[in-house]
Amino acid sequence: MTDITNNLQAVRKRIAAAATACGRDPSDVMLLAVSKGQPMAAIVNAAAAGQRDFGENYLQDATAKILGVADSGLSWHFIGHLQSNKTREVAASFDWVHTVDSVRIARRLSDQRPPAAAPLNICLQVRIGDEATKSGVRPEDAAALAAAVAPLGGLRLRGLMCIPPPSEDQSIQRAHFASLRTLFEALRADGFKMDTLSMGMSADLEAAIAEGATIVRVGTAIFGPRRKS
Ligand SMILES: *Cc1c(COP(=O)(O)O)cnc(C)c1O
Repeated sequence: MTDITNNLQAVRKRIAAAATACGRDPSDVMLLAVSKGQPMAAIVNAAAAGQRDFGENYLQDATAKILGVADSGLSWHFIGHLQSNKTREVAASFDWVHTVDSVRIARRLSDQRPPAAAPLNICLQVRIGDEATKSGVRPEDAAALAAAVAPLGGLRLRGLMCIPPPSEDQSIQRAHFASLRTLFEALRADGFKMDTLSMGMSADLEAAIAEGATIVRVGTAIFGPRRKS
């Protein structure tokens, strides 16, 4: 077995333990393997070990990998900061975008989604617990953004995503994830049919699952350290 196979098994065990501990079904939590900064061989190994969903942050690296494993039945999630000059390629190559934080980007992705493709799955990135970063819609603006995104024909609004500031304190981790869950529940109560909370990474996936994560985005715990690019 490769390290990646072992690591994947260990991460799946962490997910199952965290879900079971709070009475959730482990199969309700999708593992997204974040392969940014990793070579093609790492993706091939993970896919051979049964991993289907992969997350990438940098379009150029991602496109090469997606082409490299074309027709393999893998799903690709864009999780990096999205600039408007990159939307066309993202709309053509990916199945999900987790980082939509403006109406402008959402409209471009919808218009540029190839008509033959299924609607692009979208999460709205919400700025939780970190005023310093510019990425993500402010929580108080999320409802307006959801209302603008939901009707777009090329997109399917699936849910919310956050990257809270790192903390080793589980209670702080949970408080951030709880804020996103509370917002998610409020939007659902307003009638948005969303099913996805994308939150939790290698260091804090247990706290995220305890607060309702349905996708955890895990890089280093699966692949080890990233190459500097
Ligand atoms: C890199 C990255 C991850 C994975 O982080 P790890 O700590 O390596 O698990 C998850 N989400 C986003 C948005 C990332 O950029």
